Amino acid sequence: MDFAYPPEAETFRGELRAWLEANLEPRFRDLGQGLSLDREGIELLREWNRRLAEAGYAAIHWPEAYGGRDAGLLEQVVLAEENDRAGAPPTLNPIGLANIAPAILQHGREDQKRRYLPPMQRGDEIWSQGFSEPGAGSDLAGLETRAVDEGDCFRVTGQKVWNSLGEWADWCQLLVRSDPDKPRHAGISCLLLDMKLPGIEVRPTTTITGESEFAEIFLDDVRVPKDALLGEPDGGWAVAMTTLTSERAGVATLHLGVSRRIARLAETVRARSTPVGPVAREKLARLYLHGRLLERLSQRALSAILSGRAGPEGSLVKLVWSEVEQEIGETAAELLGREALGGEWARTRLAARSYSIAGGTTQVNKNIVAQRVLGLPRDR
Ligand SMILES: Cc1cc2nc3c(=O)[nH]c(=O)nc-3n(C[C@H](O)[C@H](O)[C@H](O)COP(=O)(O)OP(=O)(O)OC[C@H]3O[C@@H](n4cnc5c(N)ncnc54)[C@H](O)[C@@H]3O)c2cc1C
Repeated sequence: MDFAYPPEAETFRGELRAWLEANLEPRFRDLGQGLSLDREGIELLREWNRRLAEAGYAAIHWPEAYGGRDAGLLEQVVLAEENDRAGAPPTLNPIGLANIAPAILQHGREDQKRRYLPPMQRGDEIWSQGFSEPGAGSDLAGLETRAVDEGDCFRVTGQKVWNSLGEWADWCQLLVRSDPDKPRHAGISCLLLDMKLPGIEVRPTTTITGESEFAEIFLDDVRVPKDALLGEPDGGWAVAMTTLTSERAGVATLHLGVSRRIARLAETVRARSTPVGPVAREKLARLYLHGRLLERLSQRALSAILSGRAGPEGSLVKLVWSEVEQEIGETAAELLGREALGGEWARTRLAARSYSIAGGTTQVNKNIVAQRVLGLPRDR
């Protein structure tokens, strides 16, 4: 590691560890995927989220004035490490807390910050992100969901896809085309959409894991009040960029789950009655090395951010992370055979297919690495 945790971060670690020991009851531990829970799981996660919020640990990167701790990046990394070590579940509102709140804090009016941030922090209101459309994903500026200014409201019509947590969301950070005559990036606005408004239909999407972590959202002539606008009219691209670039601590801690899963796989293989042959050993050793490589890449990304020279490291980490996650699933299937056809290992293998699409596809990240790391010419 080419950086050291400052004493303040270690003090924070000690306090947090003690708090987790006192508060993380077994019923909360390893609750797992917030995105794939049923109603009962959602309510348990909400209870945990409230407990975190009351202790000031739900959104430590937020300003103190809005219930955060003004925590720096290293403290956020410490929080992720300690949560991982203790087996604490994720928050109920991961997208809201990490991605949408920074946009509200940067572009929102004071009344919007006071209205939306406290219930988001406690998990009382769940938020989703409505950016992608059937014809706009990697090329987000091509979005077509239309918002027409009608004086007292926007009339919104269109469709969103891949809306994580859409089934449960109370609010959605929605990108709309507010002026089709302006250049693509300049005609987009951002609305804070109340999902209870008439004209909104949410259709959960069942994935190959059998869960419905996403939904499609259909908007049919929805009357959205004018004060739902976040940022300037037609200034939605800047809001979207704040949201999309606010995942720095997330990128720097992606390796934690990977290391845990690799260690568990090695343990499972070791505990079996069948002897571990040379092929299995080699596969596990290779997987372990790839996990460590990811850890080093994450640490380099963190160092770069801390020293103010963040570059394409995030793309590299995302790229390698999705590959290692997929390798874990494939290796588990090869080494455990029938045992990996159900339960945790089957879910790991199937869920990991989506990781090379979510949050920037492998191909788009490879383009970034080709241009900004290898200095190759831009893709035409
Ligand atoms: C797990 C998961 C969670 C998600 N959650 C959300 C969410 O909450 N909210 C939301 O709005 N969206 C969400 N998404 C959507 C995600 O942002 C998009 O899937 C992603 O941006 C890709 O867009 P697309 O699916 O339209 O594919 P496209 O952009 O149409 O890409 C199709 C194929 O073309 C390739 N491609 C595209 N452009 C290039 C290029 N320039 N060069 C080379 N190849 C290229 C891609 O790599 C891909 O293989 C989620 C997706 C996943 C998988």
